[in-house]
Amino acid sequence: MISPFHILKKDLQTKARTGILYTQHGPVQTPVFMPVATQASVKALTSADLREVHAQCLLSNTYHLYLRPGTQTLKQLGGLHKFMKWDGSILTDSGGFQVYSLSQFRKISEEGVLFRSHHDGSKHLFTPENVIQFESEIGSDIWTMLDVCIHAKDPAKHDARAALEQTKRWAERAARAYQKTVPVQDITRTENGSYSVGNSLLFGIIQGAIFPDLRKEAALHMASLPTHGYCIGGLSLGETAEQMNESVLAVTDHLPESKPRYFMGLGTPVEILNCVERGVDMFDCVWPTRVARNGMVMTDEGRLNIKNACFRLDERPLDEHCDCFACRNYTRAYLSHLFRSGELASHRLLSMHNIRFLTRTMERVRAAITEGTFKSFKEDFIKKYQ
Ligand SMILES: [Zn+2]
Repeated sequence: MISPFHILKKDLQTKARTGILYTQHGPVQTPVFMPVATQASVKALTSADLREVHAQCLLSNTYHLYLRPGTQTLKQLGGLHKFMKWDGSILTDSGGFQVYSLSQFRKISEEGVLFRSHHDGSKHLFTPENVIQFESEIGSDIWTMLDVCIHAKDPAKHDARAALEQTKRWAERAARAYQKTVPVQDITRTENGSYSVGNSLLFGIIQGAIFPDLRKEAALHMASLPTHGYCIGGLSLGETAEQMNESVLAVTDHLPESKPRYFMGLGTPVEILNCVERGVDMFDCVWPTRVARNGMVMTDEGRLNIKNACFRLDERPLDEHCDCFACRNYTRAYLSHLFRSGELASHRLLSMHNIRFLTRTMERVRAAITEGTFKSFKEDFIKKYQ
């Protein structure tokens, strides 16, 4: 299956690359950071705010949208883009991870996973086929497959093996369901290397916990299926940095270079750069908005805590190099006052700034890969933020 992904430049010293993934809602420059709009909203921000901070693609969630407001409701209202007034790209997580992390009850069978809603305890069944249907009703640009995610820091290998085998069988069913839903691919390559895309794309999810041999097997299996890209799932769940890095390499070493790779739910900016180095193209995380709501701000000088008394009379912006709405309009003194007073506007302004920090960081990453200076850029970044 052709992937509408155009690699512009590969780094010579590492596996980093920069490119463009084309979706129905336009081009997404990679490596990309995708803000998390789990329930059709990035916490404290509007879709206009998200454009302001240069978000290209949002991550939303099938499990949450299926339970509330309901995917049929979204379909009736014209789909998620119209519902939340967002004209950029949207990727939906299949909900596999949420079934395992949020639901009090779940039972996996060959057919799918039966679970109880974390809202009201009602019973629901997710199958590889109906998850594709739900994503079609949501109308997202990139659909992901139902997977079995082991939500454990230190899983036994036989459990990881069983989860992987089930994920593989479900992936084959999801790929068939996708082909029934989108029987004709409307993707054409133009002369300048860009693509015109008229349908939603399918990404497979690679599991295998922290075991490089299972990760390799999962990658090779997924590479044999007709998909447009790959998700790396089941990591950033408490494993060591070494285990994470090894698991990522075991995957990216065995995937075709021509398709994008997305690390699901990766933590901090430093971890993101470590994975860019290992050939990952797409990232999402609630980290920048979550820490913003605690008063932590990322700047070009490093981290700062807006609660600190030293900002009470500080008339500088949060970051002199940042072009976000908060930095263009407000002083540290004002933002510090808002935060200490419990004013909700501080959540919005600090969240906008932190997301812009991430999108600016990714702009610099792309420029460094293009110029052949990624390795030294990454080393300087880690010195400042680790
Ligand atoms: Zn800013």
